[in-house]
Amino acid sequence: MDYSEKLKNLPTQFFANLVGKVNKAIEDGRDVINLGQGNPDQPTPKHIVQALQKAVEDPDTHKYSPFRGLLELKEAVCDFYKKEYDVDVDPAHEVAILFGTKAGLIELPMCLLNPGDLMLLPDPGYPDYLSGVVLAGVEYDLFPLKAENHFLPDYNAISSDVLDSAKLLYLNYPNNPTGAVANLGFFNQTVKLAKKHEITVMHDFAYGAIGFDGKKPVSFLQVDGAKDIGVEMYTLSKTYNMAGWRVGFAVGNPTIIEAINLIQDHLYVSLFPAVQKAAIAALSGDQTCVKELVARYESRRNAFVDACKQIGWDVTAPKGSFFAWLPVPDGFTSQSFTDYLLDAADVAVAPGNGFGKYGEGFIRVGLLMDEARLVEAVQRIGNLGVFKN
Ligand code: PLP
Repeated sequence: MDYSEKLKNLPTQFFANLVGKVNKAIEDGRDVINLGQGNPDQPTPKHIVQALQKAVEDPDTHKYSPFRGLLELKEAVCDFYKKEYDVDVDPAHEVAILFGTKAGLIELPMCLLNPGDLMLLPDPGYPDYLSGVVLAGVEYDLFPLKAENHFLPDYNAISSDVLDSAKLLYLNYPNNPTGAVANLGFFNQTVKLAKKHEITVMHDFAYGAIGFDGKKPVSFLQVDGAKDIGVEMYTLSKTYNMAGWRVGFAVGNPTIIEAINLIQDHLYVSLFPAVQKAAIAALSGDQTCVKELVARYESRRNAFVDACKQIGWDVTAPKGSFFAWLPVPDGFTSQSFTDYLLDAADVAVAPGNGFGKYGEGFIRVGLLMDEARLVEAVQRIGNLGVFKN
């Protein structure tokens, strides 16, 4: 017996090796500061947990619920988009409920493309985008996100042949791993390009709530005409610290939404209804918890960046997400610096090359612990003496 070719071709879980090493170091009794992962460290707000507890008491909660999600949840999604972004969304045709956005991102190429079709993906980028490519049997081209372009794609650098054959483009702002954000001007340019070359756009808005310096990240759907050519995926994982609950949604073009719903009709029945009720409580409840979450990440970012500057590490402060993207010092690669930090300073980070070729020369740090510990990590790195002060 053997695995299918598709399964064999799935990208290796790049970070599994790192996680193994970090866990081994912790088992060995070392005081590792683990900044390598992307798991929110704060608890889910109480009112959301209480909504789940109440919903679980419903004697009907064990039943299959509507395949395509509770209408009440889709209405809450529409109210959320109206309130947060002033975007009108039709709950019946423009919203699909997802089992976390990871599932949606991986399924979308299967929904929209045929074997051999071309997809465009960011490099560096969220590694799971590539799993969707392999499972759909499609081709892909990577476009670089470079520091000199503020980690936005330079569409002029993509050949018109590639643009003419591409069918699907993935974008993600605020960006994992670079912490970059996009503005409406960039999204406007994207919609124009997509219309000209007949490309469908998926904007991954996983960190949509997390923008710093008083600037709220913009939704792709705020641009006129975005819904003609695209879809946005949003997760509750980061905005409400609900990563383990597995709930997200796609909003946008009705044909894309129908395609997602069709594939999900075959893959799943419905998300646990009590989780859907809790998601309604999250989206339609008091958003003070989100303001607090953003303020917490911003103050961690400030403490972290200040500490880096003090040891002579030339870092650019991330504008959004909960990641910092830092250049490795001369003489190191992403991987060798990551190994060195774990071995010599008991600090775990994610090597940038795990996010693509253009991630080489960087490491990613998750701002997912309290300020004192983040600063301690930087001080440990400073003690290694690899930065000029
Ligand atoms: N997109 C990006 C850029 C992410 O970083 C993540 C998770 O880390 C996801 C999507 C998936 O989130 P979830 O499946 O929890 O909705």
